[in-house]
Amino acid sequence: MYAAVHGMTVLGLQAHLIRVEVDVANGLPSFEIVGLPNTAVREARDRVRSAIRNSGYQFPLQRVTVNLAPADLRKEGSGLDLPIAIGILAATDQCISSSLGKYVFSGELSLEGSLRPVPGVLTMAIALDKVNDESVLDEGGCIGEPYCLIVPSDNLAEARLVTKLETHSSAALAQVVKGIEMESFEDLILSRTTQPELYKEVNVDWADVHGQQHVKRALEIAASGGHNVVLVGPPGSGKTLLAKAYSGILPQLSEKESIEVTQLYSVCGLLNCNGSLVQHRPFRSPHHTVTKAGIIGGGRNLRPGELSFANHGVLFLDELPEFSREVLECLRQPLEDRELTITRQAGSITYPAHVSVIASMNPCPCGYYGDQGRVCHCTPMQIQNYRGRISGPLLDRFDMHVEVPRLNLL
Ligand SMILES: [Zn+2]
Repeated sequence: MYAAVHGMTVLGLQAHLIRVEVDVANGLPSFEIVGLPNTAVREARDRVRSAIRNSGYQFPLQRVTVNLAPADLRKEGSGLDLPIAIGILAATDQCISSSLGKYVFSGELSLEGSLRPVPGVLTMAIALDKVNDESVLDEGGCIGEPYCLIVPSDNLAEARLVTKLETHSSAALAQVVKGIEMESFEDLILSRTTQPELYKEVNVDWADVHGQQHVKRALEIAASGGHNVVLVGPPGSGKTLLAKAYSGILPQLSEKESIEVTQLYSVCGLLNCNGSLVQHRPFRSPHHTVTKAGIIGGGRNLRPGELSFANHGVLFLDELPEFSREVLECLRQPLEDRELTITRQAGSITYPAHVSVIASMNPCPCGYYGDQGRVCHCTPMQIQNYRGRISGPLLDRFDMHVEVPRLNLL
């Protein structure tokens, strides 16, 4: 007995259509998944088996083989749970529908058979919409049946951001099967209005920053031209405050930029499910102990780093010389190219890095070199070593170097 359904997997910022083939044959009971599954996909075996049983269906006591095609593409994430379960039910005649081929499923199964949200649904919807457009063109203008995306209820609002695509949702496996058979879905939109931590607006208004007129003017020029700026000044001169206020004077995100930012956060599972695009420019301020993988991305799962999270927004590097030299040198190429490609054993992925970098630093280790009110006790050697931590080529990427003196408010 054989059945094939469609699912999707996201690699980097790209979603791929996966054909899930299920074969149920006589033999000793077993359940194998082939086609380069990662650990999360391999673990689907246990979730799918329990979910099928607990939804009131029979799990076949036969040899079950699941093939994820194309076989040379890595499959990631728990979103393939649902198509695998539907494939098994279709192969064992527990889900009968003539239009099974037009659905694309994505969703994580719980052991009791309910559906949990998955990351990257917006990316999937955009990719599927493109596939639909291309299939229309391929057939010389005659419209084939377009794909329809089935997602967990928590993801529906996000999937519906792509308005051209037909999308439906269900809360549990049994409801999906019922929906396919009846060809009607109860689309529940769960709307939550809580904003995740990452988009919290920076609550510093440009107008609230008094004094430092020349710095404000420099930052205004930087904002209009998209320049990187380094602010040099003693502690307490307001460098951090100015950097925070800076993200407020940047123009609104355009729709294309907004989709790009939303997609990245969606793929990383950091998006809330109220189905709206990210409207504010991101402001990221990593601590100076950040690692190389933390800032440019990478690691075992090729996650994006702070640089990509700040895409179309501001990356604030407070205390620039305190960052490790290795981390700072990594920034040179992406700041020039506005994107970076990470290649690891797991593959190669390109992330966007269209950021304005605002960096701040003290003029010397004690911080008071050139200050009117305090005396600097640093030796010329110490000052030279401190400034030497930032290489010339990196400083070159900062178009504007602005001195921020301490204000005498008394
Ligand atoms: Zn000093």
